[in-house]
Amino acid sequence: MSFTHLGLKPELSRAVAEKGYVTPTPIQREAIPAVLAGRDVLAGAQTGTGKTAAFVLPILQNLASHQAGAPRALVLTPTRELAAQVAESSRDYGRHTGLRTVVIFGGVSEKPQIEALRTGCDVLVATPGRLLDLAQRRLLDLSQVRCCVLDEADRMLDMGFIHAIRQILKLLPRERQNLMFSATYSEDIRELAGRYLRNPVAIEVAARNAPAERIEQHVYRVPQEHKRHLLAHLINSGNWHQVLVFTRTKHGANRLTQQLEDSGVRAAAIHGNKSQAARVRALTDFKENRITALVATEVAARGLDIKELPHVVNYELPNVPEDYVHRIGRTARAGGSGSAVSLVSPEEASLLREIEKVLRHSLPVAALPAYPVTAAPAAHAPRARVGAVAAAHRHDGRRWQAGPRPGRRPPSRSRDAGPSASFPRARRPV
Ligand code: AMP
Repeated sequence: MSFTHLGLKPELSRAVAEKGYVTPTPIQREAIPAVLAGRDVLAGAQTGTGKTAAFVLPILQNLASHQAGAPRALVLTPTRELAAQVAESSRDYGRHTGLRTVVIFGGVSEKPQIEALRTGCDVLVATPGRLLDLAQRRLLDLSQVRCCVLDEADRMLDMGFIHAIRQILKLLPRERQNLMFSATYSEDIRELAGRYLRNPVAIEVAARNAPAERIEQHVYRVPQEHKRHLLAHLINSGNWHQVLVFTRTKHGANRLTQQLEDSGVRAAAIHGNKSQAARVRALTDFKENRITALVATEVAARGLDIKELPHVVNYELPNVPEDYVHRIGRTARAGGSGSAVSLVSPEEASLLREIEKVLRHSLPVAALPAYPVTAAPAAHAPRARVGAVAAAHRHDGRRWQAGPRPGRRPPSRSRDAGPSASFPRARRPV
């Protein structure tokens, strides 16, 4: 089946071909005809399934041609990154149509955004906060919107946008098409869908809450204080060239980034405290392989579209088990394959159990490789004194001898991480 068979007009099929897509993904096969027919849609689709094109392409077709006025299609997204990416896709897919896409989000100056709106816009992609702000100040006219998309609706609710979304929907004309995309279904999502969607076509492309089967997932059980050493070892010894690492906090992301750099891994952090410019830079450096590890918090990583991302690491497990599904969905996108590794400390055992309940199966536990434990740089100690330190680990009755890798500084003193119940403990070098 080709895109033309789905009823897309030549200008759109051409743009899709130029992107290199040959066959529509399952969500595209189901959603495109439904949206073209004017139906409301409720789609359970994870990120990476091709869902953006599944709604953007038929919306562009339905809008037909550019009109210099207020937006006629509105896409709401939870994060700035996702907004920017959806807008980029919309411009790409619409490049032969003359239709105009504008993106607005917070954290940057509003002036260029207001200016862009003034010059006429067909598709508006926005995060809820900035959108509501501009609409309430009458700098944005939503009265012409005839199609509204809630993208990653579950995430918008998680991020507390429900109030803003309700306010925004009130500003739209009653007669309109509504599309809702969500990776997971909670009661809140069902409630929102029940309230705003009219007789929707329900599309489910992957089993609910089930991560893509192509993702190879496993767990390392490791004490918290050893995680950074293990991670640096996995990256260096596995020759990983691109890995997205999730931490729980912004501070944790910064700290780990520094620690990875100290271990010779080029890394950058991406989180809500970073300026938009810093986030864009980190993402570009990552995509263009100038850095190996992108260390991200949950929220910042949402919506990142990195083609063929081979590795995702849960440096800390998420508190909400469904977030595990979102996180690992960053790999094995649109037909690729990937690996998702979780570093699980004894304190996280119950979080792991919750995740396994959602997945409905347990995650395989991999044997710990031998990894060198390097001394943490002391704030007052000269950097030159910090060297790679060998540690041996006993695991499952086997001895794992780890030594410094070639080209690294020779071992000096071991730093014993201390015992951890049911986990391998660091021992002095033998
Ligand atoms: P999304 O789920 O919309 O974030 O899309 C995930 C990735 O799949 C993006 O990098 C898209 O460019 C890509 N993609 C979307 N549709 C197709 C397709 N039909 N064939 C190949 N790749 C696609």
